[in-house]
Amino acid sequence: MKIRAQIGMVLNLDKCIGCHTCSVTCKNVWTSRDGVEYAWFNNVESKPGVGYPKEWENQDKYNGGWVLKGGKLRPRQGGKLHIMANIFANPNLPQIDDYYEPFTYDYERLQNSPDVKTPPVARPVSVLTGQKMEKIHWGPNWEDDLGGEFSKRAKDKLFDGIQKDMLSTFENTFLMYLPRLCEHCLNPACVASCPSGSIYKREDDGIVLIDQDKCRGWRMCVSGCPYKKIYFNWVSGKAEKCIFCYPRIEGGQPTVCSETCVGRIRYLGVLLYDADKIKEAASTEDIQDLYESQLDVFLDPNDPAIIAESLKQGIPQSWLDAARNSPVYKMAVEWKVAFPLHPEYRTLPMVWYIPPLSPIQSAVANGMIGKNGIIPGIKDLRIPIRYLANLLTAGKEEPIINALENMITMRRYMRSKSVDQRPDRSVL
Ligand code: SF4
Ligand code: SF4
Repeated sequence: MKIRAQIGMVLNLDKCIGCHTCSVTCKNVWTSRDGVEYAWFNNVESKPGVGYPKEWENQDKYNGGWVLKGGKLRPRQGGKLHIMANIFANPNLPQIDDYYEPFTYDYERLQNSPDVKTPPVARPVSVLTGQKMEKIHWGPNWEDDLGGEFSKRAKDKLFDGIQKDMLSTFENTFLMYLPRLCEHCLNPACVASCPSGSIYKREDDGIVLIDQDKCRGWRMCVSGCPYKKIYFNWVSGKAEKCIFCYPRIEGGQPTVCSETCVGRIRYLGVLLYDADKIKEAASTEDIQDLYESQLDVFLDPNDPAIIAESLKQGIPQSWLDAARNSPVYKMAVEWKVAFPLHPEYRTLPMVWYIPPLSPIQSAVANGMIGKNGIIPGIKDLRIPIRYLANLLTAGKEEPIINALENMITMRRYMRSKSVDQRPDRSVL
């Protein structure tokens, strides 16, 4: 057994308000430089939506991701010759237009409009062309601003598969926020796809970094990362990515996005894992088993035998203490309320998500939360379980249902508490 420690993050999507403070503070600290104007190490997407870069989840479009061939993981393009194949795949890299077109609002119209019956609206306009943005039809958070247009696109069947069914009527639309950053994967595709060996995973905390001196600007990592979380700096000619604020972590401080999060949705913690099990966990053939089999790599930080072995293998006591009290271990592994994003990409991502309980008003209206509410079918929640399962558990609905039921029970329990903090059992 080869024991390693990994820093991870849980994001409680039930509390994200889509304010983008995390993205802006991250940008101010790490990417307010020439060459990475378009890059957001942390971005917040509206879901379901096209995302950032555009359609990043479409693994065929960018030739990223991994496939299982003959029981082994291979890059989607090619087998032994994958490096060569990726060179040819790289024309499918996301282009600058796939990230977004910067836009502002038509304040002129808002401020100087003549008297009209209805209040004037500041329409979004392109910074580059001055064109009305409705003409462009997409953007990472387009669905927030132009829900009507979004609904029309759904009706016109411009979305594929599940989204098309769900969004075909305006009444059934739903919106949730998905903050995204590099996943600091246990099985990082970016490391595997770099021909220069410039990307590495730190032994002590699992943070994935790019050695800027070694990077030769091949951009294999950009197409290789299934989450599209590596960016090319067009001034330096090197690849860049989220560094999990490692200088702050080393100084005992949280990441910038965690510290500034308005909704307080982010939790940091340490996980212990068995590095010898990664290959097996990432290669599980039955996609429905993937999420649970990936959990098997984590070790119980309260098990005395694991603690003794970890110390023997050089894991510092302070990290073991952090692992014992880790909210990430509790939420992801013990309580199973936090899930990895798209585990079917097989990179074992280390940023975990607690699924949202749907717009809370609709949950209350459905009697799912509230004083005398009875829990009817959890499937009545507005955000479809099927959608969340496709996002977080490779399509398996049961773990999502269990997590949401636990969250509803906990919320009802907390709401039942009287001012002296004693639960009112009559309403449970
Ligand atoms: Fe590499 Fe992408 Fe995983 Fe980050 S999310 S570690 S860039 S494969
Ligand atoms: Fe969501 Fe927090 Fe980011 Fe605001 S700062 S968008 S609440 S993750």
